[in-house]
Amino acid sequence: MLLIWGWRTYVHQLLMLTLVCSRCQNPAAHNLYKRVTKFTLFFIPLFPISRKYGLQCAFCGVAYDIDKTHAEQLIASAQQAPAPAQQVFQPQVQQPHQH
Ligand SMILES: [Zn+2]
Repeated sequence: MLLIWGWRTYVHQLLMLTLVCSRCQNPAAHNLYKRVTKFTLFFIPLFPISRKYGLQCAFCGVAYDIDKTHAEQLIASAQQAPAPAQQVFQPQVQQPHQH
């Protein structure tokens, strides 16, 4: 029997944040998203292979991966106080990539 397997990536938008972009230096809206890759068998998603968090600058479009801890901190701080006007974001990942 032929097994058809593969994977699918789902992107969930979690939050919009205003951060100073490390690339274009603009205080721009950033989309915090979660990217879940699921293993599929016969096109049915079975279980997640990887979960990644990322931030994308709405101004210049640069996207970078951030770790889960950092993403949770951003979510927590956005839910607590009214967001500060400016927050400097230092990406922890060395290789920014375009989408
Ligand atoms: Zn930018």
